[in-house]
Parts: sequence; structure tokens; C-alpha cells
Amino acid sequence: MPQTSPSTDILIVGGGIAGLWLNARLRRLGYATRLVERGELGGGQSLKSQGIIHGGTKYALSGILTGASEAIAGMPQRWREALAGNGELDLSGVRVLSDAHYLWSPGSLAGNLSSFFASKAVRTRVGQVKGDELPLPLQHPGFKGKVYRLSELVLDVPGLIARLAELAADSLVASQDIEPLHENGELTGLYLDGLAVRARRIVVTAGAGTAELLARLGLRQPVQQLRPLHMVMLKAPTLQPLYAHCLGGGSKPRITVTSHPSTDGQWVWYLGGELAEATGVAREPATQIAFAQRELADLLPWLDLSAAQWATLRVDRAEPAQSNQARPDNAFLAEQGRLLVGWPTKLALSPDLADRVVAHLRHQSIEPARHAPWPALPRPPAGQPFWSGLLP
Ligand code: FAD
Repeated sequence: MPQTSPSTDILIVGGGIAGLWLNARLRRLGYATRLVERGELGGGQSLKSQGIIHGGTKYALSGILTGASEAIAGMPQRWREALAGNGELDLSGVRVLSDAHYLWSPGSLAGNLSSFFASKAVRTRVGQVKGDELPLPLQHPGFKGKVYRLSELVLDVPGLIARLAELAADSLVASQDIEPLHENGELTGLYLDGLAVRARRIVVTAGAGTAELLARLGLRQPVQQLRPLHMVMLKAPTLQPLYAHCLGGGSKPRITVTSHPSTDGQWVWYLGGELAEATGVAREPATQIAFAQRELADLLPWLDLSAAQWATLRVDRAEPAQSNQARPDNAFLAEQGRLLVGWPTKLALSPDLADRVVAHLRHQSIEPARHAPWPALPRPPAGQPFWSGLLP
């Protein structure tokens, strides 16, 4: 291999939210970075997410505020600072779709919330709203139930990905084929479509592609788990924005609704929660849509959906393997020599994953260094919103 092959401090593989956030954070700290993406930026899970910057409150629905709830509690504030332009990244200009997410308890269930509100940490984060403070679709004389405001943001993820791509400047590289570069028995870099690149650290943030990539590198650890979802989306001229977990009495929301602006001025409602979990995964798309239609007719009977267009989307959450396929509690980072492998486990936890990489670099005394300029390389395109190609 010629000694003139390009080099960098940190080579990141995977341009979803985790890789893009990390890339921007490291560049701000002065590191030379390159981020390699084989498809579209955000085109894995990130652009298919609901964009909620959780503070963990929904995890307390079981009545217990777990370790996960505590770890994630600081995230909304960090994102708010970044969005205001005075945080660890400058995300000013990224559209905040909603400054709050709501917990919505249909009439019959209000009593079931007593265990949820038993936790003091929850009581301090949640306030009840009524009347014209209610989200617009719930401001109807027929609405019964209680609504609580959670201090959790919902972001326009396509705008977020675009801003992070801007912060990446010339560090983004498109490459379909990645092979390990070993020298003296050590992984020292990667071949990107045949181009040898040396790096002081390689960080894999390849989402569901991580298992395949690790296999290429000859590694069996860390093990990845995939948890499938079968999401439902609908678009109608009558829809107004709604950002809410509708409670169903269990430890997961019956439905989680987020709303996303399409270019024709209409709103797209995106339905997740229990509806999209195992039982929903087992349903065929037409049955899943019929189920969602019945749910909305039951919960919001005044909603006119006669002109609605419907579609479903199957997508896997990629995470480090847990016993019983449980939800991991935090961002995850494993270290093996020069290789770091991470999953944020939640879009909201991307800052936590970046913290772990920065802590590794500091612990290993890896300071920013100078590298020769790179040849011009193709740049990966940005991905499309999740409904693109599914709804007209
Ligand atoms: P991804 O976004 O999947 O990115 C990985 C990237 O790596 C992809 O672009 C892929 O093309 C690339 N890649 C893969 N293999 C290779 C390779 N060999 N070479 C180069 N590139 C490669 N979290 C929240 O906090 N709030 C939410 O509201 C929320 N809603 C969600 C809703 C759904 C339906 C789903 C599925 C997840 C949701 N999540 C949410 C979780 C969140 O979306 C994920 O945790 C997060 O997007 C993962 O980001 P990532 O960058 O690790 O992975």
C-alpha cells in the first residue's frame, strides 16, 4: 500500500444520526474526521424515526422510574441548547415540530395513572393541560380523558440530518464496499471502494448494517439485535398536528402519534407505540391499516378521515443484544483496539454515544493531529422523509 494513502484521526462508518452527530462533535473538538456512508444519509432508521427527544417519562408508565429514565432525562436539555445555537453543536435553524409531547389518557384509563404519578421525578416533569391548551385534534366537545404535557421536543428529522450534513463540510464520503485494512496483524484502517484509508480510530455506527460489517472485519462481538416495528402513516387535508402517547393501560403507549409536514401543506400522521410492536408486526399491511383505522375511530371519532391516504412501513430497531430482546437502557459503545462499535439505541441518545467516544479518546490521550489533504471523493446523498414513495 503506498504510504501516501489518505489518513484521518477518526473514520466513522454509517451516516445516520449517531454517525453524523459524532462527526460534527469531533470536528468541533478539532479532530480530523471522515464519515463513510454506503446509502443515503439518515436513510436507515433515523429518517424513519418519530423524532421525539425523549426525556424518558414514557418509560415510567410501568410505575417505576428505571435506570433508562434517569440516563435519558438530561437529553432534552442538551438538544434544546444545541437547537438554540449555544450547545455542543450548533443546530440553530433545525425545525422543532413541537416543543412538547403529550400523554393522553382516554377517559376510562385515568385511574390507571396513579402508579405513574407515584414517582416524584415524573410529577415534576409532567403538567396537566385543559381547554385551549389541548393539542388541536383533542379540542373537541366529544373529547373525554386527561392530557399531560411532557417537556420533550419533536424534531423535523430531515432538517436535522441536513444540518448535520452541513456541519460535516467535506468529511462525508460515499462508498459501497468496505474492507478491513490490516497491517502487522492490526486493523489500521479500511479500504473504501478499494481506496486504502488509515485511521487512528474507526467508529462503526452502521445501525442494522453493523452485524454484516463486523462479520467482514472477522468479528463476532458485539452482538446485534433487531426489534421490528410495523408503523402506520396517513395523510389527509383534515389532519392537524398531534404529538402524543395515547395510553392503553400497559407499560407501552397504545399509540404514539407524531405529525410531519409534507411539501403539499398537508400533515402526515405517523403511528407507532403498541400498535406497531409484535402483534402489529404479525399483521399484513392491509390488516394493520384496518386496525389503525379502528383505533383512530375509537379514540377520535370526530376525525374526518374519508379522504385519507394510508400506508405502512416495516423497519427494525438495531441495538446491542439484550436478554429477552429487551430495550437497552443507554447508548452503547464497545472498544476493541482501534475499533469502536456503537448504537445510540434512541435518536435522543446520540449525544450520549458521542460522549462515550470522546471519553475514550481522552482516556487514550488521542489529540487532534494534522493530515494531508484527501483526493476529491463522491459524497453520499441525503435520504428522503419516511413517507416518500409511500404516500402521494
Ligand atoms: P441508522 O439511522 O440506521 O444509520 C446507520 C447508517 O449506516 C445508515 O445510513 C446505513 O446506510 C449505514 N450503513 C450500514 N452499513 C453500512 C456499511 N457497511 N457501510 C457504510 N454505511 C453503512 N428514537 C428516538 O429517540 N425518538 C424517536 O421518536 C424514535 N422513533 C423511532 C421510530 C422508529 C419507527 C424506529 C425504527 C426507531 C425510532 N427511534 C427513535 C430510534 C432511532 O431512530 C434510532 O435509535 C437511531 O435512528 C439510530 O441511529 P443510527 O445512526 O445508529 O442508525
